[in-house]
Amino acid sequence: MAIQNRPPIVTIMGHVDHGKTSLLDFIRKTHVVAREAGGITQHIGAYQIEFKGKKITFIDTPGHAAFNKMRARGARVTDLIILVVAANDGVKPQTVEAIRHIKEANVPIIVAINKIDMPNVYPDMAKAQLAEEGILVSGYGGDVDTVELSAKTGQNIDQLLDLILVTSELQDYKADPAADLRAVVIESTMDKNRGPVATVIVQEGTLKVRQDIEAPSRKEGDEQKIFEGRVRQLVDENRKSLTDITPGSPAEIIGFTEVPPVGSYVFEKGKVPTELPTALSSTNANVEIDPFAEMFEEKPKLKLMFRADVQGTLEAIEQNLDPEAMNLLRAGVGEVTEDDVDFAETTGSTIYAFHVKVSKQIEEKARAAGVKLKKYDVIYKMLEDLQKQMLKLIEPTIDEVVLGEAEVLQLFEMKGDRIAGCRMITGEMKKTDLLHLKREDKIIGDPEIKSLMHGKEIIDSVKAKNEFGITFKRKKEDFQIGDRLIVYKVEE
Ligand code: GDP
Repeated sequence: MAIQNRPPIVTIMGHVDHGKTSLLDFIRKTHVVAREAGGITQHIGAYQIEFKGKKITFIDTPGHAAFNKMRARGARVTDLIILVVAANDGVKPQTVEAIRHIKEANVPIIVAINKIDMPNVYPDMAKAQLAEEGILVSGYGGDVDTVELSAKTGQNIDQLLDLILVTSELQDYKADPAADLRAVVIESTMDKNRGPVATVIVQEGTLKVRQDIEAPSRKEGDEQKIFEGRVRQLVDENRKSLTDITPGSPAEIIGFTEVPPVGSYVFEKGKVPTELPTALSSTNANVEIDPFAEMFEEKPKLKLMFRADVQGTLEAIEQNLDPEAMNLLRAGVGEVTEDDVDFAETTGSTIYAFHVKVSKQIEEKARAAGVKLKKYDVIYKMLEDLQKQMLKLIEPTIDEVVLGEAEVLQLFEMKGDRIAGCRMITGEMKKTDLLHLKREDKIIGDPEIKSLMHGKEIIDSVKAKNEFGITFKRKKEDFQIGDRLIVYKVEE
């Protein structure tokens, strides 16, 4: 036998309750390998299905624990990860955790936006949130494949399976059944009746009944240990006894003398390669990665207030807010009030008015107080704007176009005004333009122009290469020699 194609090995990850188990169950029930239909199944940590005549192996160890353990030992079993995000809930802490693993492991992914059968779900919201975490799906600046599906009704699940096949065709997973055996332990336990049981997925070679095997691994405390045994029985998820297992397929091994840890590699006895797959020789092979370490970092949040015509709309809006990224300070039915504007001013929040009247006075008051008040009549437009604001949290200048740049060369005072003597390096600055004040690489303020001068003459604009003086509306504007003024406009 020579190198052959093997089935892809797929892991499903995502936040709790987003539907990982439901998706695995649905796929398993509807695409059982033909000859096994109707049989009794058991959980062994992985199963295989057949779709359009091709096999796909799913790892169905719940949660991320196994994945973490395997990664901690450096074992790489998964070819492809399905990241499940519930459309009604969006990106959550464990989604972020999964994304971190995905990036570290550098495994291709497909995003499954689940629960689209539910009312009032906005898959685009989830996509925007994913973009925030660096997972750029089609339509959001990237080319990560997404499927909007329902693990409950089964809608579009075949589309997901199609994508898995397409991806594996592209990646062209191959292995040699005639090579020396290498398998990875994905689950292991001590069974009362059967003794040590280890579920493995074969990566190279063929695992056979009556084969003598060994799994060199580290136990707690850094002690190198070899787990040994002889394969007495190989059992698949349909409780069927098998004689051999080829690459890409899972089975339980009964016959180890001790329970080998998850993530260990299994070889034929006496055929352990001198170069162990990286992690086995790594010094911190047993160090567990703390999946929550990064979760508690303070992230900036959008502060929001909502006014809507009916309670139902408010609820729909609230359901679509990501509490990780947004802080909902106030939500109510009816017109925007003066008190709302005051509250928005003190808290620095933005008011979204959906389908409600906003009087001239209120608009005027908001403008005077520098409060952002946004009016919408179409819900998806409002959600789109919220997505944009979320993106701006990470990349504040995302919707800006730079029109010019000036450098502060001198400082002087005239009639109580502090003046910055500048030179326009590139572009142009008009008196009505918007500015950022930049020090080194940081934007430290958004000063508003009061006046532009050339010598003693008041001017309306200044072009590249010219020197000029500038004063700002805010008397205490903090600028220094060496700062830069970035002229920009906001793209609609
Ligand atoms: P897990 O924690 O990610 O494995 O999530 P589960 O598969 O256990 O699902 C959590 C809950 O969401 C269960 O009550 C499921 O019935 C429900 N659920 C999962 N997928 C869907 C779906 O597509 N639509 C709906 N309406 N409910 C779903």
